[in-house]
Amino acid sequence: FFKQKTAYEIGVRLVGSEMCIRDSEMTDSENTPIQPVSGTVVPRFAGPSTFARLPEIRDVKSCDIAILGIPFDAGTSYRPGARFGPQAIRQASRHLRTQYHPSYDTEPFIEQQVADAGDITCNPFNILESVEQIQTAATEMLGNVKSIISLGGDHTIALPLLRAVNHHFGPVALVHFDAHLDTWDTYFGAPYTHGTPFRRAGEEKLFLDHASMHVGIRGPLYSRNDLINDEELGFKVVHCDEFQTEGVEHVIGRIKERVGNNSIYLSIDIDVLDPAHAPGTGTPEIAGMSSRELVNVLRGLAGLNIISADVVEVAPAYDQAELTSLAAATIVYEIINLLTRSPGKES
Ligand code: MN
Ligand code: MN
Repeated sequence: FFKQKTAYEIGVRLVGSEMCIRDSEMTDSENTPIQPVSGTVVPRFAGPSTFARLPEIRDVKSCDIAILGIPFDAGTSYRPGARFGPQAIRQASRHLRTQYHPSYDTEPFIEQQVADAGDITCNPFNILESVEQIQTAATEMLGNVKSIISLGGDHTIALPLLRAVNHHFGPVALVHFDAHLDTWDTYFGAPYTHGTPFRRAGEEKLFLDHASMHVGIRGPLYSRNDLINDEELGFKVVHCDEFQTEGVEHVIGRIKERVGNNSIYLSIDIDVLDPAHAPGTGTPEIAGMSSRELVNVLRGLAGLNIISADVVEVAPAYDQAELTSLAAATIVYEIINLLTRSPGKES
């Protein structure tokens, strides 16, 4: 009855006709990635509500990078609400300009197929069942795609994601951006929470204890032993104040030296940013990184062998003017570009 095409169909059709121009140059037109709906064809505030208006994963033949929502927040210790993070990040990602990134010299959606894989179904009343659901879904997905960038969700999800990555790649160098260590043992007797994923991961030997580190740590602790216990798991720490005293270049150098040539998993808790830059999160800590510092550290990691990542703890109910979700969406886009430059990805 309605003859008018949807904005998504228009976008795909016009991107498709642009691809015909490419066809004369490319012999393998079947494998040309389906790109996001162009912001110069359909206004960015319209069109599909996938991350960066990318195609859904069911619409592509193969996929290099899957954007995966994990709306789980039953592991939070203070403000809940990160279950609404994935959709808020997708909404903010409409604003991204997705054709070319000058900092990496990449056309990330032309050089590889990126798609939105939707959300994992998690049981909001059962943490253990949710952890298993995430592990199963991510393990299966990594059998079909090269990399996953997960949208949290609270930081509990990093444990099943690391298990899935280990299933396919073995132990990885973990680079963990966070105000907090997240290596506590239990909260109120609970072993699986957003403050404990890297203690469990250490016990399961999911990361390389000679190549992993925390970046952006700050603030008071529960006990003097917290730092000692953390170090026993094999972590080195870049304290947040070192961005001021040593500078971004020095921090990039320390990360590169630590991770070496190992495969890297990036886990980014949005509360690594100062609440002025990311107020919409569950456990904010003042005196944090600026969004410029975080973006510049990430750009300094271009060329390292990053294999998958998560961006967690976006809780939109405490956000203002999309500050936090825009920061998270932009960081996800930076990671897509990092993966484009990851050695395992280049042909
Ligand atoms: Mn945190
Ligand atoms: Mn965390």
